[in-house]
Amino acid sequence: MPIDATLPYDDDNIFARILRGEIPAKTVYEDEFALAFHDINPQAPTHLLVIPKGRYVSWDDFSARAEDREIAGFVRAVGHVAREAGLVEPGYRLLANCGINSHQEVPHLHVHIFAGRPLGPMLA
Ligand code: 5GP
Repeated sequence: MPIDATLPYDDDNIFARILRGEIPAKTVYEDEFALAFHDINPQAPTHLLVIPKGRYVSWDDFSARAEDREIAGFVRAVGHVAREAGLVEPGYRLLANCGINSHQEVPHLHVHIFAGRPLGPMLA
């Protein structure tokens, strides 16, 4: 079910539980600001998720409330993960769903990294 991006943060959401180590994930990177792991239901040969460590429901919540150092750390982590995975050439796609119309399902901000095949033009 898609979630309302304006709801308060739910500490029992699946990515909060992954951050606490209560649910396993195939982690590829972790630092002070971010955790990156493989999507459980990949939509491309490479499908990674990067999440901030802070309690942010959505892109909207993160961009409004996060400290500058958290935002910088998270953005750097996304770029680092893509580089370390060797995705810069021939390229990758970033996607962050926000709210019901985007079909955001997990109420903890996540950026998808898709790669490994030509992804075609972006479809809205
Ligand atoms: P959204 O639609 O919210 O942008 O994407 C949520 C993503 O989280 C989906 O691609 C889904 O496959 C992934 N996902 C949901 N539950 C889990 C889980 O328990 N582990 C992992 N690794 N990915 C999950």
